[in-house]
Amino acid sequence: MDSLKEQTINDINYELFSAQQLKWHTLAKNFANQIDPDLIIRSDRDNQFYRDLFNAACHKGFGALPFENTYGGTGGDYVSFCLVNEEFGRRCVPIMSSLGVHVLCQESIYKFGTADQKAKYLSDCAKGNILAAFALTEPGAGSDTAAMETSAKLAGNNYVLNGSKIFITSGSVADIFIVFTRVEDGTAAFIVERDFKGLSIGQKFDMLGMRGYGTSEIVFSDCVVPKANLLGEFGKGRKVALSSLAKGRVTIAAQALGWARGALDGLRKVLQDDKIEHSDSQTYIIGNLLIDIEAASSLTYEAARSIDRGENNTTLAAMAKLKSTDIAMKTADCVLGLVGIEGSKPKYLIERIFRDAKAGQIYEGTNQIQRMLIARDILGDTVKV
Ligand SMILES: Cc1cc2nc3c(=O)[nH]c(=O)nc-3n(C[C@H](O)[C@H](O)[C@H](O)COP(=O)(O)OP(=O)(O)OC[C@H]3O[C@@H](n4cnc5c(N)ncnc54)[C@H](O)[C@@H]3O)c2cc1C
Repeated sequence: MDSLKEQTINDINYELFSAQQLKWHTLAKNFANQIDPDLIIRSDRDNQFYRDLFNAACHKGFGALPFENTYGGTGGDYVSFCLVNEEFGRRCVPIMSSLGVHVLCQESIYKFGTADQKAKYLSDCAKGNILAAFALTEPGAGSDTAAMETSAKLAGNNYVLNGSKIFITSGSVADIFIVFTRVEDGTAAFIVERDFKGLSIGQKFDMLGMRGYGTSEIVFSDCVVPKANLLGEFGKGRKVALSSLAKGRVTIAAQALGWARGALDGLRKVLQDDKIEHSDSQTYIIGNLLIDIEAASSLTYEAARSIDRGENNTTLAAMAKLKSTDIAMKTADCVLGLVGIEGSKPKYLIERIFRDAKAGQIYEGTNQIQRMLIARDILGDTVKV
């Protein structure tokens, strides 16, 4: 079946991207293709994070791709970063989610950090010497971040943090954390180093999907954070969180596009391996999926272009995240339905994508919450999120 060959409609539309953007796409594809397929399976099966691979990705320039050169950034645009994430998602590159969060954290420092904070952390982040994690979610505060209980109190020249954060991507392996707390008059964000007194790594989560990212709980017991590590304005931590998450959602949209395409790659491989002829009913299903993937792709890259234009289009970001993760979930589901149990062999990556896409619908704001954010765009504050 021609439509299931490589480099067909089940791929990015090359005419929509600049030569520089396509260079990043090719680099990402080559990087992903060089990873041992067994390692990809092991990272998921054993829930194992590979720091060497993360560092290798940073050495290729992926770790700080959408940032200026001043602090070691690679100077690419957000569209290029999305192309990389799409390729990584398509091939289930094990460090993909950690890399996405790492960039999200740097984004917070670029936007809200002091000159000293930028000088201290960003170059090492770009090189991969420092791996960053984003610590917002708590046992009683997922979608409703206002319910956050982790606290920060000023004591002399330090803030003292108490509480815990859960489901933190890279939590057990990160070197710094962007941590959000409640304070007397609002919220605050801090850059917390792993070695700061009072920080410990709690339980490691054996996730359904998005495994292999060192996802864990982080506990703060009278954790001492120097005043100089306050990120952004005291009392306005929510601003830091929301601003970074809007970009993060576009990254996830790109990853999810990759999952959708990766599930179709898996389908093609099963059909080839088993020498199965496709049926007409299969082509209808695949045709419909391709239309939806293309629609999600348009939204995702429009959202990325809007970031590159310096706009803050949170609604577009929410739409892209929602549409791409939903179509990734649907594609993996349909493909498993089309090929049956054969498709659940780990080597085809389809069942992994099925689990990863489910996680994608939940994290950085569930898709239900995205719908509410989108509706709020026209209904205003009558929609409570
Ligand atoms: C793989 C993975 C990685 C993650 N990584 C990180 C990370 O690095 N850092 C971090 O801080 N967090 C992380 N998280 C946590 C993630 O952001 C939360 O899971 C997410 O915000 C949802 O919170 P919750 O799971 O507590 O669900 P809840 O908020 O308890 O929601 C449960 C259900 O209720 C619905 N719901 C909630 N509120 C409303 C409402 N007002 N109206 C209608 N429906 C509602 C939700 O849509 C959902 O269906 C990660 C999660 C996953 C799965």
